Amino acid sequence: MSLTHDFRDAGRVKTLLAAITAAAEPVAARLGRPLQIMEVCGGHTHAIFRFGLNQLLPSSIEFIHGPGCPVCVLPVEAIDQAVSLARREDVILASFGDPLRVPGTRGSLLQAKADGAEVRVLYSPFDALALARANPNKLVVFFAIGFDTTMPGTAYSLLAAERAGLTNLRFLCHHIRLMPTLTALLEADDIRLDGFVGPGHVSMVIGSRVYEPIASQYHKPLVIAGFEPVDFLQALYQLVLQLAEGRCAIENAYARVVALDGNPSALKVIAEAFEQGIDSHWRGLGQVPGSGVRVRAPYRHLDAAELLASTPHIKTTAEPAWCNAVLTGRIKPHQCPLFRRHCTPQNPVGALMVSSEGACAAYYQYRPEELR
Ligand code: SF4
Repeated sequence: MSLTHDFRDAGRVKTLLAAITAAAEPVAARLGRPLQIMEVCGGHTHAIFRFGLNQLLPSSIEFIHGPGCPVCVLPVEAIDQAVSLARREDVILASFGDPLRVPGTRGSLLQAKADGAEVRVLYSPFDALALARANPNKLVVFFAIGFDTTMPGTAYSLLAAERAGLTNLRFLCHHIRLMPTLTALLEADDIRLDGFVGPGHVSMVIGSRVYEPIASQYHKPLVIAGFEPVDFLQALYQLVLQLAEGRCAIENAYARVVALDGNPSALKVIAEAFEQGIDSHWRGLGQVPGSGVRVRAPYRHLDAAELLASTPHIKTTAEPAWCNAVLTGRIKPHQCPLFRRHCTPQNPVGALMVSSEGACAAYYQYRPEELR
């Protein structure tokens, strides 16, 4: 199969659209409303709009955009910590590109850089090791973010730094685990969901088996999807078919990438570097039990926590309430009164307008007709 041909094949897309419509419409008619399907991953939100799938799918399906964009769920406090560290004379703050423009209480990392702070963009956490070696008179702090997908890279880098005996590298870890996040959404009383399109990239690391409680305890179906149109529609078809047949199971429509038990090497290195099950606060989700990680005790000297304790920091302001509502699927991006008027990619108010996976950025880029 070729990605650009078979997974974007118009004939396959049409066949799947017809099958989805035939399966979804009787269920929606019975319920008296559209099926409410959460695509967990921001990459899927962008795929839906980029390929125009929202215009091709029947009105009996409504997408609820989920919280699976790692930059979007970063709390303001995490940005404030990174900015405070970046403003230290003895620190080089290293980060992926996306978090740089996310507004903190007193500006973003990009603004700190414009003010003279040493902020560097890295493409891989491993580059932080080279940066530390090249700057022995500075402390290099890597701003480590992301779901289970990026956690193995941070973990490998942290363990490599330990083996190399690097004394001037620290990790500011704000990694988030997907399953506790989904559980928090399922526990919320005011979020109505009929099923999930499961994320492809996270599942590549954690596997498909871990989602079993979503079906067995919360009685919601989930189908893991890839990011090409045929991938996504195949998963959606399987999901809708389950709803039509009254079934509820975890299925994997991205088996060319996702295994039942994930990537054992990645999971091993995560377990070695990080304590899991740490209660953590996230934008839009609030305090989520067991969703965070912490550097394990033998490597704690590589954790930026001690450095933070000796860094002057500011009182963090609350996250914009509209962003929180979009992140949990309570409103759509264009229903935020700031959307496109006061909040744009050039002048973002919230993280969802910044990130390449953010729902507001997707609406801005692909739905120019939406004002409110
Ligand atoms: S438009 Fe801006 S302020 Fe409104 S929800 Fe999106 S990111 Fe937040």
